[in-house]
Amino acid sequence: MYTQNLHLHTAFCDGKDTPEELVLYAIEHGVQSLGFSGHSYMYFAPSRSMSLEGTEAYKKEILRLKEKYGDRLDIFCGLEMEMYSEVPLVGYDYLIGSCHYLDIDGKKVGFDRSAEEVGSVIDTYFNGNGLAYAVECYRQAALLPRYGSFDIIGHFDLVTKHAEKVPFFDTESPLYREAALDSLRTLASSIPLFEVNTGAIARGYRTSPYPAPFLVDECRRLGLGAVITSDCHAKEDLTCHFKESALYLEAHGFDSVYILTKEGFVPMKLKEFI
Ligand SMILES: [Zn+2]
Ligand SMILES: [Zn+2]
Repeated sequence: MYTQNLHLHTAFCDGKDTPEELVLYAIEHGVQSLGFSGHSYMYFAPSRSMSLEGTEAYKKEILRLKEKYGDRLDIFCGLEMEMYSEVPLVGYDYLIGSCHYLDIDGKKVGFDRSAEEVGSVIDTYFNGNGLAYAVECYRQAALLPRYGSFDIIGHFDLVTKHAEKVPFFDTESPLYREAALDSLRTLASSIPLFEVNTGAIARGYRTSPYPAPFLVDECRRLGLGAVITSDCHAKEDLTCHFKESALYLEAHGFDSVYILTKEGFVPMKLKEFI
């Protein structure tokens, strides 16, 4: 069995633990591989990301951990790149491309926020029209490939973060689904992998991972490979909902996930993962 989590945040950005604390926790709990994915520096929201100097310190620290613990687990240095970050993308083993912000007339407006804040974004910029907000999120997400060469599409339907508790729009509506599918099809032409991301479960927002079943079905039709991650911000959530996510993928026609190795991404049978 081999368990890998490629979506990890640490105290270098908005996570709780140091990278070394995560490594020690992984060793103790039988996790074989970690990929760190700090939030890229955001000039428009510096308190939520790694700083520019912090990014260099982060790279150095992950390198140190690779050397210190390399015989006990596989460690990779990645980046969760916010689309509008404008940072260099060199020096990483892999890149997750994510959209947490809308560009509205040049202003960067965050939507990975509390339900109250999302409601306020919808009222302020979309005249209270939640569907228009969702459609615009997907339209902008489709621009991701312009900003870099990414390996993994991060939490593709993040816009549904609050859908279980606060229905800002109808996720069953044809307009919503078409917007999501159009965006996904565009991304699939240049990004090879998507993540089943359980981060919102660990944090109590949702009971199911991103993306929704109709999108996982489309990922399979489009030939995208899957990775399972927990968007971990605290070590206790390192493998949150991983088993259920493997079953979820299996139920939607996947028989393998992709794992990162020193030779790049390779498929692994779901029953060998976790
Ligand atoms: Zn994210
Ligand atoms: Zn993340």
